[in-house]
Amino acid sequence: MRRGFLLATLALLLLLSGLFPDVAWAYAVPPTEEDRPATHTVAAGETLFSIAKRYGVDVTTLAQLNALPNPRQIYAGETLLLPLPEGYPRADWQSHTLALAETFALLAQRSGFDWLTLARANRVLNPERVTLGQSILLPPQTTSLTVHIAPAGETRLTLALRHALPYWQIAQLNSAPLYAGAAWVAPGAAASNTLPYPITALTLGPQPVTRGEATVLSLETAELANCSITYLDQTEACYRQDATHLFAFVSLSPMLDSGEYKVALTVQYAGSEIALDLPLLVAPGRFGYERIDVSGSLSQLMDASLMEAERNALDAVADLRTQQRYWDAPLDFPVQAAISSYFGSRRSYGGSYNTYHSGVDFRAGTGTPVRAPAAGQVVLAQKLAVRGNAIMVDHGWGLISGYWHLSQIDVAVGDWVSRGQIIGRVGNTGLSTGSHLHWEMWVDAKPVNPLQWVEPFFPIPPAANAEAAPSLE
Ligand SMILES: [Zn+2]
Repeated sequence: MRRGFLLATLALLLLLSGLFPDVAWAYAVPPTEEDRPATHTVAAGETLFSIAKRYGVDVTTLAQLNALPNPRQIYAGETLLLPLPEGYPRADWQSHTLALAETFALLAQRSGFDWLTLARANRVLNPERVTLGQSILLPPQTTSLTVHIAPAGETRLTLALRHALPYWQIAQLNSAPLYAGAAWVAPGAAASNTLPYPITALTLGPQPVTRGEATVLSLETAELANCSITYLDQTEACYRQDATHLFAFVSLSPMLDSGEYKVALTVQYAGSEIALDLPLLVAPGRFGYERIDVSGSLSQLMDASLMEAERNALDAVADLRTQQRYWDAPLDFPVQAAISSYFGSRRSYGGSYNTYHSGVDFRAGTGTPVRAPAAGQVVLAQKLAVRGNAIMVDHGWGLISGYWHLSQIDVAVGDWVSRGQIIGRVGNTGLSTGSHLHWEMWVDAKPVNPLQWVEPFFPIPPAANAEAAPSLE
């Protein structure tokens, strides 16, 4: 009877093996090194000896690895670590159960090991396919990270702002854009330790920055340091606020394509240097279109070579990087008058829209006083063919302002001016079709939207020298 049952079972097994040849013999072949998992969950009836035999490992090693006081006492459902092949770091590695939103890349980043080493040490063939609850062997943690769930409407940028974390750090840890309910990770209690020495705080904001505007890099260091940034093939040295605070500006042409760019930061300290790449998100912004009809004697001023020569002269003046800062943000308006044309408007002078308005126009009557929006030194004060009577003021830290089409110039090159001081009068000189003030603001030798500077767009601490230029009364 019993014998007949066994035969029937064997016959059934043989039949099944014929139907499912891969399945029937799977357990007959010991798992290879490549297939061996990092852990084994003890099934009912298994012993340490049977497990060791199954994976082709030594019982003593298995007992030691799992710190088993009595190798006979293992329990069904218990997770055992399996030894790793030679050549993999494992001395004090611990089993870690994969939590919500944890990825292999994240674990690797936290462990300080590269992704491939970690995958090999765990014999994970496809690190993209690790699942929630899976056990992964990890070296002792070098960085603490916490997992959060994103509320509706949250972006990586708003998270960075709300949690007072550098945007680049959030972006680096969370590569995909967020959606409501998505898990995201942030540096935990040891957040400040994740910034490479000597950096203790770092922001590049506001972001995204609208093209045609400026954004600010703010760096705090543990010891005296210097820094520089490189963006769009332009390198700018940082300006020093005090022994541990440095600032640099990123200024973007309104004609730049929107998208993600890179700001390469280099920090030099005590003979050493570190480099970091920071993401720079550029938003398209909205710009108007203006067609300007120029006729008669004014059209002569549209001569290409004449315009270029004048432009080159201004570029040379605007290419200043004065290390002292005389301005405090936000700046004042140079006149109290209605705006008739905004910065960045695409302009056509009787042709294609191949140029843009490089300043802000205020409609104001001839003779209206023009006041310095911040302290600084006059670096240009003369009559120009296209821009008419023009003034340029250097406010320090690469911030230069310009005032065109004036009827009267009240300052000379080299003069120091204070905030609110009258420097000239509104007029209609040069290439101008009516009395107005054209106000321009340059940062890193490029025109940017001046209206950004009359708002508190970034918390820059008061300047030691602001409103206290050398020869002011
Ligand atoms: Zn203008």
